[in-house]
Amino acid sequence: MEILNTIQQMREWVGRQKQAGRSVGLAPTMGALHEGHMSLIDAARAFCDAVVVSIFVNPIQFGPNEDLSKYPRTPQQDLDACKARSAAAVFMPTGDEMYPPDGRLTDVTVRRLGDTLCGANRPGHFTGVCTVVAKLFNIVQPDKAFFGAKDYQQATILRRMAADLDFPVEIVVCPIIREADGLAMSSRNVYLAPPQRRQATVLHKSLQLARQLITEKRPPASDVIAAMRQCIAAGAPGATVDYIHIVDPDDLTDVQTTDTPVCIALAVRIGTTRLIDNMVVDGGGGRS
Ligand code: AMP
Repeated sequence: MEILNTIQQMREWVGRQKQAGRSVGLAPTMGALHEGHMSLIDAARAFCDAVVVSIFVNPIQFGPNEDLSKYPRTPQQDLDACKARSAAAVFMPTGDEMYPPDGRLTDVTVRRLGDTLCGANRPGHFTGVCTVVAKLFNIVQPDKAFFGAKDYQQATILRRMAADLDFPVEIVVCPIIREADGLAMSSRNVYLAPPQRRQATVLHKSLQLARQLITEKRPPASDVIAAMRQCIAAGAPGATVDYIHIVDPDDLTDVQTTDTPVCIALAVRIGTTRLIDNMVVDGGGGRS
């Protein structure tokens, strides 16, 4: 496995792969890798000849009061994990390599899709994500890029960005990987103290409750949200709900009824840790 720290090294490596006729898969991450990330590498290996994992804590997607400086960083463990899962290369640039200190005058923004859900409380976040992913697409030129459904809105936005800007890359979205008790795996779970960690299972429980209500009764979306809020208040009394939305799975607009496929998305703060989760449910009884 090769470790590449500069854009030029990365480009040369990709050039060699393409010359040898190998397809390239990219799994972009911010490190502190867990089984959720590993599932992206596994999927990429199944579809592509050579897999690149990028590890870059992207400063421009963090707001001024967010956790950039304390975001978990475990570079050696990450490299070992990538090697164990047979990644062909890891792209690990510095901040200055991706954003030279002379400043950046270009941003990539996907309008409207980035204004709701997490975007409403995190202004500029998705512009930061789109800008770094656009750069990664141009640097790595992957045939396919792999993202997790854990960040449902992010995957939706990036798919749209790739389509609108004609990036010659196929976006593949992989299922959410969960701990045994249902908590969606996240690099941020390490922030949770043991009692908070136990309370955090309420996110998935509230989604399961929503799925049950929708598949059995198809109630109005507002009733489902009210039941989820009650479930969270009972299971995690100290938690703060940032949002719960039931949206159209494609355009992310709020729906009023639950008799079509919907995405139920939520963000909850437990202490100072903000956790997100989601579930796609078909009110007609299909997908989940
Ligand atoms: P991050 O390092 O948190 O920026 O995540 C990098 C990629 O891994 C994103 O596409 C995430 O959606 C994906 N990912 C993170 N956690 C999970 C999970 N529990 N299951 C599936 N994919 C995940």
